[in-house]
Amino acid sequence: MDRQPDLHLHSSASDGTLDPEALVALAAREGLGMIALTDHDTTAGLAAAAGAARVHGIDFVAGVEISCSWAGVGVHVLGLGIDADCPALTAGLAGLDGRRRARAAAIAARLEKRRIAGALEGVRALAGEAAPTRTHFARWLVAAGHAPTPAAAHKRYLARGRPAHVAGDWTPLAEAIGWIGAAGGVAVLAHPARCPLSARKLRLLVAEFAAAGGGALEVVSGPQPAERTRFLAELATAHGLMGSCGSDFHGPEQRWLAPGRMAALPPTVTPVWGVLGAAGRARRVRV
Ligand code: AMP
Ligand code: MN
Ligand code: MN
Ligand code: MN
Repeated sequence: MDRQPDLHLHSSASDGTLDPEALVALAAREGLGMIALTDHDTTAGLAAAAGAARVHGIDFVAGVEISCSWAGVGVHVLGLGIDADCPALTAGLAGLDGRRRARAAAIAARLEKRRIAGALEGVRALAGEAAPTRTHFARWLVAAGHAPTPAAAHKRYLARGRPAHVAGDWTPLAEAIGWIGAAGGVAVLAHPARCPLSARKLRLLVAEFAAAGGGALEVVSGPQPAERTRFLAELATAHGLMGSCGSDFHGPEQRWLAPGRMAALPPTVTPVWGVLGAAGRARRVRV
């Protein structure tokens, strides 16, 4: 029997370390029958991944993970089953790409003040064509000997409240949902339990997400405690949202993670992949 789909994966088109073809090949080795590529604010890896998925006989869902700002905090919204050529979406993502590159310069300037030089050139080299993310900064800080691990680099420099943190000025939530809708996709609120929000604020966020046309909640994000899965499943059901699941895999250096490695979506939740056709395109169905 097929494993449950993995609808949240990153490639080197954003902050993953495997190129799209290698990522799809790994997913095939892991026995997955359906995957989505969801790079941060870009669709650049989708064509290569779709081609590789055809070769491996895997259903491929074209996706993206859009950086949003809500109530002053960063939240991520996945678009699944999108048409990557939709003008509203491509224009929106082009704007985010520019903001990401400007923010990278601001982060590097803050590091420079801490006498850490060369970060901007360093992350640009690591990112290649991709717009630099904090993941690239964390990797560069480790390579340059400023932190022992990426997690430590976040903790020391890049996380909220740390000296090189620059809050992104991302997309308003409703706007991102609008782009995804225009592109024919389903909007999924990513890893809701990882948003730095109180339980009350999280409920507000989910209510607003549903009212703005959001379709699903990412009930399962990687391996997670059963209690969290139960809580998010109830939250989805309460707001008439479907459920999604994904590993949020970024590369094999995350030894504890692999494509498809995550908790099971509870049977009480309507799986979002039910509205993703065999071609990975979203069909307009509401639960
Ligand atoms: P950005 O969108 O540029 O703010 O970067 C966010 C990305 O950084 C996330 O998608 C994660 O991949 C990564 N990230 C954020 N916090 C951490 C952390 N504490 N440890 C490791 N990676 C992190
Ligand atoms: Mn990431
Ligand atoms: Mn995310
Ligand atoms: Mn992600």
